Amino acid sequence: MQPVLSINGIAKAYGPIKALKGVSFDVPEGAVFGILGPNGSGKTTMLSIILDILKADTGSFVWFGEPGSEHTRKRIGSLLETPNFYHYLSAVDNLNITHAISGRGDAADIDRVLEVVKLSERKKSKFSAYSLGMKQRLAIAAALLGDPQVLVFDEPTNGLDPVGIAEIRELIKELAKRGKTIIMASHLLDEVEKVCTHVAILKRGELIVAGAVDDVFSNEDIVEVSSNDPVQLLSVLNAFPGYSKIQPHEKKILLFFPIGTARLEEINRFCFEKGITLNLLLVRKERLETKFFELTNEK
Ligand code: ATP
Repeated sequence: MQPVLSINGIAKAYGPIKALKGVSFDVPEGAVFGILGPNGSGKTTMLSIILDILKADTGSFVWFGEPGSEHTRKRIGSLLETPNFYHYLSAVDNLNITHAISGRGDAADIDRVLEVVKLSERKKSKFSAYSLGMKQRLAIAAALLGDPQVLVFDEPTNGLDPVGIAEIRELIKELAKRGKTIIMASHLLDEVEKVCTHVAILKRGELIVAGAVDDVFSNEDIVEVSSNDPVQLLSVLNAFPGYSKIQPHEKKILLFFPIGTARLEEINRFCFEKGITLNLLLVRKERLETKFFELTNEK
């Protein structure tokens, strides 16, 4: 399938600061694509380039496999920084102004986007009376005007309290369910894990890795096993077929398998037939943080 966005060797410097150093990746259709990296890794610069706010020094990008045009831009909604909404106006009046300036959407669309972000009941309240989370939802509503196919968000949960964060994450998942492709910058691993299907990890302007979240963060099943006699258990499990590594860990044995190939019931039966009763048998996902630090470790 044609990627929604294809980025090829993008580089950008601000004077001596190399913000992006030749970054390439594709964003598949329907993905919630996280651009993940610590502060200063180049995420906002990348989003600004793909939205034509900044010009890359070298490299190129293509939306929908087509050259950029007015039509292409209409298919992309974005939220890079909180729009300057008028504090004394209601949500509806503010969106009317956004619509008048951007030419996106119409009166019916304003009701639709307020419904999507769950602000319909408060649509006549003044912006100044909104909580931070509601303000952010209104900003997302503005990005949804005209029903664009792709949404680009920079750190959409930044500065919100836990409830506000949860609401925005739910909203992003809901938009994805409705078939939107979402590209979002985040410095939060946890956010990418909870919300994204795909990720590109940036570190100091370089792409460390890009791909499906499951592939990037977990390429093996790790099975934890224990019994009353760890020494005997280890010697029995040594003969178990199919693992790639076996490792005693505290009072447990860790068995590593290629992703998706660990079969707990077979391990259980194997041990039982050799006279061992297990008191622990589970698959654990490698902790995301461990993998992230491994990936972004200084060379
Ligand atoms: P953050 O999460 O802090 O926004 P980021 O990953 O989005 O970080 P960028 O904002 O793209 O990173 O910044 C990448 C690098 O470029 C940083 O070193 C930053 O200081 C630098 N930079 C960004 N904008 C400018 C600018 N206008 N002038 C000079 N340097 C800049």
